[in-house]
Amino acid sequence: MEFNVLKFGGTSMKDHQSWKQVLTIIEDYEFPVVIVSATAHTTRMLVEAAELAAAKDMQSALVISREIRERHLSIVEDFLNENETEKKALILDSCRKKVDEKIGKLEKLLGYIQKNGQLLPQMKDAVASMGEQISSYLFAQCGLAAGLMTQHIEARKIIKTDKEYGKANPNIYEINQRCGSLETVLENGFIPVIGGYYGEASDHTITTLGFEGSDYTASLIGGALNAATIEIWTDVSGVYTSDPRQIDKARPIPELSYFDATEMAYFGAKILHPSTLKPAQERNIPVLVKNIFEPGHEGTRIVRESDHQQPALALSFKKDIATLTVSAYETVMGYSFLTEVFRVLNHFRLPVDAVSTTEASVTIALEDSGKLDQLSKEFLETGSVSLERNKGLISVIGCDLKKAPELTEKVFQCLDKDTPDLISFSKEKRILNLVLPEEDLTDTAQNIHNRLFD
Ligand code: ADP
Ligand code: MG
Repeated sequence: MEFNVLKFGGTSMKDHQSWKQVLTIIEDYEFPVVIVSATAHTTRMLVEAAELAAAKDMQSALVISREIRERHLSIVEDFLNENETEKKALILDSCRKKVDEKIGKLEKLLGYIQKNGQLLPQMKDAVASMGEQISSYLFAQCGLAAGLMTQHIEARKIIKTDKEYGKANPNIYEINQRCGSLETVLENGFIPVIGGYYGEASDHTITTLGFEGSDYTASLIGGALNAATIEIWTDVSGVYTSDPRQIDKARPIPELSYFDATEMAYFGAKILHPSTLKPAQERNIPVLVKNIFEPGHEGTRIVRESDHQQPALALSFKKDIATLTVSAYETVMGYSFLTEVFRVLNHFRLPVDAVSTTEASVTIALEDSGKLDQLSKEFLETGSVSLERNKGLISVIGCDLKKAPELTEKVFQCLDKDTPDLISFSKEKRILNLVLPEEDLTDTAQNIHNRLFD
């Protein structure tokens, strides 16, 4: 049996028309395993409701939960009105029951959070996963209405993780074992539909896999089933040279290596979860990124090896970056100074985006999180500290080293307005990172894109 794991994101799950579109895509596969996200905006609304509850504004939290309830029920109703079936009454009834059960659970959780007066990570995950819990069930029911043999499979039965709420690590061994049951479902002629993004820890509490976690669910299951392809279906035709919603003339990249695609995901191309490619890479399974609105477009194919002729492959950028410079108080041995700086970063569990260093001074670019003031204080033990906020990071990915002079010349011509706060280049990773004031970020990114990809 040749399996294809198909993942449909929030934009594909937006309304009853896109659900229909998704179902027509699924129909073309012999043994598809379907992973769905929450409907568009739902996860964000859920988290907002949880935060309101923690701030004791239960009324506003409940307004959100009601809105989520209504929106989901109307998607199902609209779907059933347009896709007549004799099972309509039955399907509608089971969908209403499920929505009421889940919304009831959500409101109970919001009540706990309010009582607690704070949003513990465990509670946040339980709430945030509700979008996928609901969408996957309803979508599987609509599949039945459209004549497909869809069967809802609870993600908690398959995606087993540790207890790092908010960014849980999968237990690959257990996932591999549990995916065996999916093969049975497929052999019996059914199409499994599974909610992405969440799973459960060994004590049965709900965990989530982090931002864009549905992609990761898809690749974990694809890896476990040794699928023929893992397909990420979205609202654009593949991985582009840069974010097509923000950069004019960004264009799809037909083929990418796992390596370069992973770097893109890490450096802000929000199209993929950074860990997505790992399970695929381990089994050499091609990952396709395709557009539900243009299914005939080849999209992007991510494979083990891929070569290209351009000076670079893509450009990504992100806001909300800060730079932190630590300078040793007196001349110290470089290694002990650097060891100390990275020990502190490790203690705070803060990932670093780019670093530039001399023997007694280091500048670090990292996401501007709530921990930076505390971090700066800690660094004062080691040296003088300066923290600058409102920076942006541009990453030129997949740099071709043979064309380095041409590449750097083009990039630096776009920087005449400012001196970048930090420049770092990694030969190994083929990445050129630039940190610059946030207000110039989009313009500079556009200019560099024009120069490199036009
Ligand atoms: P989904 O809901 O399907 O998961 P996402 O919103 O997570 O979709 O990802 C798709 C979006 O990612 C696109 O609409 C696009 O704006 C954005 N994006 C950012 N960088 C890139 C890129 N390099 N290539 C393609 N899309 C990108
Ligand atoms: Mg996504």
